[in-house]
Amino acid sequence: MCKEKSRILAQLGDPVGNRRFHRWILGGAAALSLLSVVTTFANTARTTDVYLPAQSILVQVSQPAPTTSSNDGLHFSREERIRPGDTISSIVRRLGIDDSKAEAFLRTDTVARTLQSKLKAGQMVSARFDERGELHTLQFPIPGSDRAVNIERNGSELKARESDLSLETRTLTRVGTIRSSLFAAADEIDLPDSVAIQLAEIFGGEIDFHTDLRRGDRFVVVYESLAYSGREVKPGRVLAAEFDNAGTTYQAIWYDGQPGSGGYYTPEGRSLKKAFLRSPLEFSRVSSGFSMRLHPIHGDWRAHKGVDYAAPIGTSVRATADGHVEFLGQQRGYGNFIILRHHDRYSTAYGHLNSFASGIRQGSRVAQGDVIGYVGRTGWATGPHLHYEFRIANVHQDPLSVALPINHALSGYGLDDFRLTAQPMLTRFEMMNGIKTAKLD
Ligand SMILES: [Zn+2]
Repeated sequence: MCKEKSRILAQLGDPVGNRRFHRWILGGAAALSLLSVVTTFANTARTTDVYLPAQSILVQVSQPAPTTSSNDGLHFSREERIRPGDTISSIVRRLGIDDSKAEAFLRTDTVARTLQSKLKAGQMVSARFDERGELHTLQFPIPGSDRAVNIERNGSELKARESDLSLETRTLTRVGTIRSSLFAAADEIDLPDSVAIQLAEIFGGEIDFHTDLRRGDRFVVVYESLAYSGREVKPGRVLAAEFDNAGTTYQAIWYDGQPGSGGYYTPEGRSLKKAFLRSPLEFSRVSSGFSMRLHPIHGDWRAHKGVDYAAPIGTSVRATADGHVEFLGQQRGYGNFIILRHHDRYSTAYGHLNSFASGIRQGSRVAQGDVIGYVGRTGWATGPHLHYEFRIANVHQDPLSVALPINHALSGYGLDDFRLTAQPMLTRFEMMNGIKTAKLD
């Protein structure tokens, strides 16, 4: 079979085709472990990819092969990666297409012409053509979207249209270690930002990702990835995650027993949602690099009763719990200030805001995580930061020492059903931790 493919490509006069046919990803020597991982999860009808940064893995990535069609002669399918400086013409030539009519069409057609501005190095382009090099179909995925421009031949006519890419859902597992920040750890293992942010959200009731992370903290994350032609187009939802923070291990598994009521649960079936988020700051790449818990910097404002978070002006400030706006306006020292009231006895306060979120006013109801304003330096502040207070029955408390669980737990059929979802994820955690141990041996 391989021999035959090589021969066909050789006939097309493509000296590199043979190399491209078997594209191997060289990761680093646990081929057997990887195979066992793949085998274990093969019955989920999804492809599985496990990232093991410091070990050798050989994974064969399937490439479209030349295909023959009994209806209209011999057809070939080819893929090419866009290189810096490419034009539509240079890509078309590299694909092996020799079709002046198609080239003219690509230059003049209204839809096809827009492609030149959308070319992005690294993106894959695929084509089907016949043995004479005449183009039949050409597909350009549009960068940053799940759409594609398709050029199709119908008889002697060529047409260009936009359509959805047919995406394949894969389940990926990544292991990371914190050395400086969550995003630095994510970058090391090619974890998309949106997945790192989901991690911070999932464990947001337990861990303040701005202040609590420690060097050596470790995580395993299992998430969906939508791929086109073996390449990730966009990451999807985190299905399960484990986070070791300062010696404590937290585990979360996504469960959506009834549509629309999905959430993350511990392996015992308890909801991870807490009455209060640990951090009022929205976690982002920018705020994560900036934010440190500050010592009080208010000079003569002696009775400092809150926590100060340094953050860039404009960083989103979130309601840490469901509640309503008790006060919104200016107050001496606090500048632009919001007080939220939650469940009668509790209140939270947010000071030095640059501005309030639109639509938020006195009396407004807010849900946990809603953006209520933006970090600033109004009032007595020497630099941009958020002043955050937590009060129980109007007595100030250290927000970082208060943990208030919501006692929502699965039971009965829901719990049994959840366990079916949870078990494969727990196996995955064990496997990833086992691989780490093996590596150390
Ligand atoms: Zn303060």
